[in-house]
Amino acid sequence: MAPAETTDPDRELAENQTPGLVCAHHHLYSALARGMPAPPRTPTEFQEILELVWWRLDTALDPDLIHWSAMLGALNALQSGCTAIVDHHESPNAIDGSLSIIADACATVGVRVNCAYGVTDRHGADGAAAGLAENDRFLSAGGSGMVGLHAAFTCSDDTIEAATELAARHGVGVHVHVAEGPADTWRRLVGHTTDDWWLVHCVHLPDDHGLTGTIVHNARSNMNNAVGYADPRRFEAAGLPVALGTDGIGADMLDEFRVAFVRARERDVTTSPEVVWRWLEAGRRLFPETADDVVTWNYPVMDPWRLAYTTQVSPTRVEIDGVTVWDDGPTRVDAAEITAKAAEAATTLFARL
Ligand SMILES: [Zn+2]
Repeated sequence: MAPAETTDPDRELAENQTPGLVCAHHHLYSALARGMPAPPRTPTEFQEILELVWWRLDTALDPDLIHWSAMLGALNALQSGCTAIVDHHESPNAIDGSLSIIADACATVGVRVNCAYGVTDRHGADGAAAGLAENDRFLSAGGSGMVGLHAAFTCSDDTIEAATELAARHGVGVHVHVAEGPADTWRRLVGHTTDDWWLVHCVHLPDDHGLTGTIVHNARSNMNNAVGYADPRRFEAAGLPVALGTDGIGADMLDEFRVAFVRARERDVTTSPEVVWRWLEAGRRLFPETADDVVTWNYPVMDPWRLAYTTQVSPTRVEIDGVTVWDDGPTRVDAAEITAKAAEAATTLFARL
């Protein structure tokens, strides 16, 4: 581990540098999911993917697993030049304190994070109340975050109302999955949303949806779940900002940019990479401070037209808030130790599944 080094945040960026990239929608708890045992049967549609994979995984999480998944996810982010993560967390059997575990892990690695606990009535009114309390506890303690809602279709009207009020009280938005699958009851959010809401997926949202906020597009995840194409350009045309997330499939935002680009081209071959680069940069709305983060890349010209067709571009150096946190490896943590501990944690998780 090399010592941290302070640099001038006002310096001009070279052609092989960018500001820090932002993952506008992540689930750090999914970092340990890779290699998990197959579900009891093969899911045939989105709702079954939730029930057979993700809702079994999240109930198995405990504080130690949350810690190591966040450590590994944060390390993976730095490795890809992502300096800020907008996380959406759920661990129904370990709710209290979970957001602080994630925030502390990200701080240890040196990555910025915005945390939210995804409140849901899937585990009854007590579960919803505990989720709301965790968001309130974390934000009241000065944590950087939003109030999380899983999605309207797993929340009662009372829970949606309570999350809306809690977010307004803390002066933050609500981070919520919207119309990811066709069965979501997103219309129950109408009248609640404000410009600081974070509306994730919006695949099945019609043009006259009546919601406001930032639309977060997750091209690869949507393709993986076969939920359809969100066509984010229609939201931009209506004046809403569009940002890019991974929905938990790592935090390699250049890779996500390339996937979102080819998916957009598949729909409309006139789409310019500059459009999708604009979505990538929109994540900065929540993290304006990332504009001063400096990522130096192993590629000479960080231009959207080149990057759309260039793979294996990775950072050689990452500076966050004037401090070097990656210099051909993490400067604050031991990558080998995190990888080993995360592998142990994954073994524990898989045994529970
Ligand atoms: Zn998600």
